[in-house]
Amino acid sequence: MSNHVEAEKRNHRKLGQELELFASMEEAPGMPFFLPNGMILRNELENYWKQQHQKAGYQEIKTPIMMKQESGHWDHYHENMYFSNVDEQNYAIKPMNCPGAILVFNHKRRSYRELPVRYAELGLVHRHELSGSLNGLLRVRSFTQDDAHIFAQMHQVKEEISSVLSMIDQFYAHFGFKYKVELSTRPENFMGAVEIWDKAEAALQSVLDEKSLDYQVNEGDGAFYGPKIDFHLLDSLGRSWQCGTVQLDFQMPEKFGCTYIGEDNQPHHPVMIHRAIYGAVERFMAILIEHYAGEFPLWLAPVQLKLLPIADAHVAYAYEVKEKLLAYGYRVEVDERREKVGLKIREAEMQKVPYMAVIGDQEMVKGSVALRKHKEGNVGIASIDELIKRFAEEV
Ligand code: ZN
Repeated sequence: MSNHVEAEKRNHRKLGQELELFASMEEAPGMPFFLPNGMILRNELENYWKQQHQKAGYQEIKTPIMMKQESGHWDHYHENMYFSNVDEQNYAIKPMNCPGAILVFNHKRRSYRELPVRYAELGLVHRHELSGSLNGLLRVRSFTQDDAHIFAQMHQVKEEISSVLSMIDQFYAHFGFKYKVELSTRPENFMGAVEIWDKAEAALQSVLDEKSLDYQVNEGDGAFYGPKIDFHLLDSLGRSWQCGTVQLDFQMPEKFGCTYIGEDNQPHHPVMIHRAIYGAVERFMAILIEHYAGEFPLWLAPVQLKLLPIADAHVAYAYEVKEKLLAYGYRVEVDERREKVGLKIREAEMQKVPYMAVIGDQEMVKGSVALRKHKEGNVGIASIDELIKRFAEEV
């Protein structure tokens, strides 16, 4: 099959509709509605993200989606923003999460002993994109950035970047993605001192070298506030998607008055690292849907097991099996319609459910199920304990 045909088959808008993951509506163009199945996928991605960040020493925060407009945080985004006016006060809907993290950092006095401070936020942002450019979950107007902001001393930057790179590597491997790395250096309209830029670029480069990562250098492509490393995922069709980013920032901490008291008892500005791994949860979902062609691994699948009783007499036992699996947190449905089991299997296959379990007289007597795997067919008789063990291993 040609790549084009294969890509069309995997189109996330088509699969999003067929698998009832999300919907686009006239009432809010570019702002996706998540349906129950899509919400399961989304929650699994977010839960995994939260677990990994907690393990890596991040603290989670949540900051308001709108703030008073005069805060001056939004200068560079004005054209793409949404605004509101309440009680004669102008509010701006946030297009980025950085200001919220800065306000949290600044809400109390900081000592060098606390650094690095790592704030993680799954932050909902809005950016006005032209209606012609909207595309399912890939290009949207409201999305959740899997942001983190690290406030560190200059000498801690290298180690922090190194841990961020390890984390990104672990995340992408978890989904079976290979990736490309790009380092973007000082642009023409840069802010700050050249020596600091040189030092920062050298630090990023040496971390990449130490990790033996292949990377391309994009001279002059950095943000005006600092150099950055971008990550481009390669999906199962070999297409590349920019997702993760790690950006060093020397400007915002100074502009917004972030300080900590150093060992010398004097105030200093920390270095700020902005970083995201998924990029945006919605966009990452679109990429995953196409990458897996809707055939999600067991841990992500909205329905993990479909129980298929052959006749009415087997329905009660099917519900017993369902209860047992629910107790372990698995997502199970019973197809109790009076249809031929062959039809039930075909439909479950079309819904791309990873496992099906056929239940007839024999299974009921033995307390087992006849297990089938999506696309593979029969995988044999399994007791309920064996089924639970198999799921635990696979998840
Ligand atoms: Zn940021």
